[in-house]
Amino acid sequence: MEKNNCIKCDINQCKYHYKAEDYCSLEQIQVGTHEKNPTVVECTDCKSFVLD
Ligand code: SF4
Repeated sequence: MEKNNCIKCDINQCKYHYKAEDYCSLEQIQVGTHEKNPTVVECTDCKSFVLD
């Protein structure tokens, strides 16, 4: 597992979290939304999340 310096993340519960530091270990991630019309930050999701 390698740290991706371009993707900071503090979701420790994710399988792809780097753990030692708050970064993602994937090469790229998919960001999306669960809303029809996203207007605030809470509307956005990391679609690459997998429960650890
Ligand atoms: S896949 Fe998404 S939620 Fe998981 S560590 Fe990477 S950026 Fe964070």
